[in-house]
Amino acid sequence: MSRFDRILVVDWSANSTPKRGADSIWIGAAGAQAGPPRNFATRAETITYLRDQMRAALAADHRMLVSFDIGFGFPKGFAQHLTGRAEALAVWDWLAARIEDDARNRNNRFDVAAEINRQFPGTGPFWGRPDHLNLPDLPAKGKERGGHGLAELRATEALCAGAHPMWKLYTTGSVGSQSLLGQVHLARLRAEFGDMLAVWPMQDHAAPLVLTETYLSLIDPAVREAQGYACKDAAQVDLLARAFHGVSLAAMMQPEASREILREEGWILGAGYGAELLAALGQRTLTPPRLRNDCFAMPQGVDWVPVDVALNRLRDALHPVTTTEDVATAQAGGRVLTQDLVARRANPPAANSAVDGFGFAHSGLGSDGPYTLPLVAGRAAAGQPFDDPVPQGHAIRILTGAILPKGVDTVVLEEDCASDGARVAFDGPIKPRINTRKAGEDVQAGTVFLKAGRILTPPDLGLVSALGVARVPVHRVLRVGVLSTGDEILSDPGAPAALHQIYDANRPMLLEIARKWGYQPVDLGHWPDNDSAIASALDRGAQSCDVILTSGGASAGDEDHVSRLLRARGTLSSWRIALKPGRPLALALWQGVPVLGLPGNPVAALVCTLIFGCPALSMMAGSGWIMPQGFELPAAFTKSKKPGRREYLRARINDQGAAEVFASEGSGRISGLSWAEGLVELPDDAVRISLGTRVRYIPFTSFGL
Ligand code: AMP
Ligand code: MG
Repeated sequence: MSRFDRILVVDWSANSTPKRGADSIWIGAAGAQAGPPRNFATRAETITYLRDQMRAALAADHRMLVSFDIGFGFPKGFAQHLTGRAEALAVWDWLAARIEDDARNRNNRFDVAAEINRQFPGTGPFWGRPDHLNLPDLPAKGKERGGHGLAELRATEALCAGAHPMWKLYTTGSVGSQSLLGQVHLARLRAEFGDMLAVWPMQDHAAPLVLTETYLSLIDPAVREAQGYACKDAAQVDLLARAFHGVSLAAMMQPEASREILREEGWILGAGYGAELLAALGQRTLTPPRLRNDCFAMPQGVDWVPVDVALNRLRDALHPVTTTEDVATAQAGGRVLTQDLVARRANPPAANSAVDGFGFAHSGLGSDGPYTLPLVAGRAAAGQPFDDPVPQGHAIRILTGAILPKGVDTVVLEEDCASDGARVAFDGPIKPRINTRKAGEDVQAGTVFLKAGRILTPPDLGLVSALGVARVPVHRVLRVGVLSTGDEILSDPGAPAALHQIYDANRPMLLEIARKWGYQPVDLGHWPDNDSAIASALDRGAQSCDVILTSGGASAGDEDHVSRLLRARGTLSSWRIALKPGRPLALALWQGVPVLGLPGNPVAALVCTLIFGCPALSMMAGSGWIMPQGFELPAAFTKSKKPGRREYLRARINDQGAAEVFASEGSGRISGLSWAEGLVELPDDAVRISLGTRVRYIPFTSFGL
């Protein structure tokens, strides 16, 4: 059950003195008794207001959701260590018994944080304090911490870009201070309202009053465009309350996380649902800014553009054009990450054995061996931890992947031991910690393990899953429209053709390239050389695609309808690129959607698609500017090339490992494209190639074909 009559969103604050306006407490309301955002000077005043609102909701038989911009829990392990219970709500009560926060916002949160730090090994986890506070157990800087054994972020925060860690108590984004003070006040409200109030996701949220945490930045794009609010905080609480009221909260309230994580760490309401929340605000947001109308313009007077100059200009002109969404990790292969992924858990999570053998403390071995150690009863295996400590001078049977029991730091390989079940004997010398894996030796908690822009590979899905990430934020798949033109072209390869007609080779080829690149191909059909037919196909493309590839009619001749149309009604820049085969590349925006006008010759169309389309589309798809990897091979051909333009030859590697090229360079020879397995790239300058000269070969696989 997740329908609420009334929704409040609270931007909480850790101010130590009363304050109004920006960076103070704001409450937005939606649903029953919606009204403009309210501002409060102190936490005490805020709680009084919330208490009244809760009582009123109960009296009116309303269900009310109150969502706070603070963390309700801390990273896994904290609650258990501090309170003996792996429950966020146990921490609330622990804090409520110790933190004082008076009616004027004066409070002792830094002292209590220092007290907490003393209870953990090493330095930290909390950090950040005003200079004048002399609290040796509360480091001023995050870097000064170590050995406290806790992750930086909670599981839910991996889904919220830019979320600050709960451990940070001071300066911008000190969510830790806000949370310590918030949890104290909410613990008291909980005590007061009893069963009428539930805390999500730790408790059953069927109660009439439900408290959740949230993250105001979820709707940043809407906030950026909002107008007429007193300050950003006011816009955030108002818009988020309305967004929560406008969406179905059911799915959002069933996050993909274990019960243990939900109970101990909590969960951000709306994490991973930014797009839905924005949609509820009627926002076409997340739609990245459109390309500028003049983005493809070449400077005046430029005649022939060298390939590298054209590539650089294209790179500067483009940016990602797709919106973002959240998908289940198992479905995310080939998709492009929109955010860095941060490990919320170390891999391996605990030190464990790398082999089957016998484990013991190295310091208990004494002299150089051979050794005989008594065995403790039982064994440690993967998934079956041995919970008791192993006494110094004793050993334990241990299997691969088993957590090292207390008192074990070294493992000898089974094959190097003799054992009668009561003792184990082996030879020395033995290196300390041998055959063990350190906690976090693969990935440390809190580190970025995959970067934004990454195209997720099969091993990436293994890594993401191993780190316990169920859903990932990715770019929506780029939609690539393909349109061919020409009176002589016949689109149906099954139709009878007159002598003056040829079958459409480019469209099937380009659609399949788009599909192979992981994009969504959109067939915009074949059209005769007729302005209104081509214009309506482009209109359709602009509605349904992120980018359009056309073939044919891209030069400046009488029959070049595509370029004429783009000049008249789009924003054409015809790039005469010093490239063979290729030359005319028409770049334009049609209703804001980029159009790459490719030459009609299939060979030129393919070369232009690989050289320009490949990096351009990957840029638009969010994976950055990707250039193909090539390598040098001896030539199995001879050629004398004139200076002035770069040349691409259809090529493949022969049995001797040399690059051979297709017999004819004619750009209409489609059979040569199919024969080839890559391209030989010859530089802009003049070259003389004899047998064995090193030439650059780029396999089609490097272009993702
Ligand atoms: P264009 O760029 O329109 O001047 O076309 C150049 C050459 O490519 C002409 O010989 C066209 O017939 C041919 N051509 C154009 N489009 C296609 C296509 N879709 N499939 C095969 N050949 C084409
Ligand atoms: Mg034509």
